[in-house]
Parts: sequence; structure tokens; C-alpha cells
Amino acid sequence: MKGGKLIVFSAPSGSGKTTIVRHLLAQPELNLAFSVSATSRPRRIKEKHGEHYYFMSISQFKNHIKNDDFLEWEEVYRDNFYGTLKSEVERLWAEGKNVIFDIDVSGGLRIKKKHPDITLAVFVKPPSIDELKIRLKKRSTEDDDKINMRIAKAHVELATAPQFDKIIKNYDLDTALREAHRLVAEYVGVSPDLEGYNDQA
Ligand code: 5GP
Repeated sequence: MKGGKLIVFSAPSGSGKTTIVRHLLAQPELNLAFSVSATSRPRRIKEKHGEHYYFMSISQFKNHIKNDDFLEWEEVYRDNFYGTLKSEVERLWAEGKNVIFDIDVSGGLRIKKKHPDITLAVFVKPPSIDELKIRLKKRSTEDDDKINMRIAKAHVELATAPQFDKIIKNYDLDTALREAHRLVAEYVGVSPDLEGYNDQA
């Protein structure tokens, strides 16, 4: 596959990586486009097919695995498969974009391994596991069982942070957004417009 750069944001669920990725997508100088993943998990009420995910059945997902259609895929939680379709990245590269991913830690590291020269892999670190639990409860998109499952996984994911190119501590959102903006701009080779952040460190 040929094209622009790959920018991976990975983190335990609830760390704020989706907020950071959305913020970066709104910065025109970064020329980013979001890689829409395929998933077999049920659609949440506000989610749209083709915008948040390509929703599909487990058997459709397994067919794509069989056909080698994925750049990477994971069974992130039991029966909940998630993956990046090669066709999605090729589509965005054809538009001349840098591609940004909001994916789990193993998927993020797999992309880095496949395309080391064009990938920036960033790990978003939450302040603590307790804070993660509070954020997941506040979000109320999962029941207690699922929250506990995500917290159990978070312990394992936090241990992988040193394998990433960069770590952003999301203790204060504005500081994290500014740092993410600066890092990605540096990687894609543009000068960032960093006006407007509270933290001007
Ligand atoms: P959620 O169900 O909250 O949307 O996502 C659950 C986890 O799956 C998140 O950590 C999310 O980043 C991850 N994820 C989403 N898309 C992909 C993908 O294409 N590949 C992998 N490996 N993980 C993904």
C-alpha cells in the first residue's frame, strides 16, 4: 500500500483518545482523515454505519478475515471483533490524506510493525485506573460487567505503553490536546496553529 502517513492513537477504553482524535481531525493543516473500522459489536444509538464503524455480523467479519481483507484485526472483547480494512486505508490515501486511527493497543502496534517508516504510534495514558472507571461509568454506554471487562483489559494495555513512539498523559484535557496537535504536526511536517489553547507551556 502506498500513500500518506499513518497516525495511530491507542489507549485503554475511557482514556480520552476519541476526544483527542476528533480534535485533531478538526485541524485542517494536518490533512487527516479518520479510518472507519469494521466491527461486529452492536451499534450504539447515536452511531452511524460508515461514519463511526462499518457494522457487520460475526460471520461477515470472519469472511473478511478469510479473504485477507484486514490490515489488522482483533477480537477486542469476546465476540466483539474490530478491524481495519485495507480498502479503507487505500481509499483515504487515494484522497491524498494522512490516515488517523482510534484503535486498541494490539492493533495499533500491529500497524506500526507493518508500516514502521510511515507510522506514528501514540499511547494515551489516563491519570489512573480509578479515574478510568469513573469516566466509563459517566459515559454510561456499557453495563457494569462490560465496564469491569474494559478495566481488566486496561491493566494489560497500560503495560504496553513503552512500545509506542510517544506517550501523551491525559491528566488535563487541554494540555493533552495541545501536545497531540504539536506531535502530529511535527510528524506530518507542518507548522501547527497552537493559538487558542489554555495551556501555553
Ligand atoms: P468501542 O466499542 O468503545 O467503540 O471500542 C472498543 C475498543 O476497540 C477501543 O479501544 C477501540 O479503539 C478499539 N477499536 C476500534 N476499531 C478498531 C480496529 O479497527 N482495530 C482494533 N484492533 N481495535 C479497534
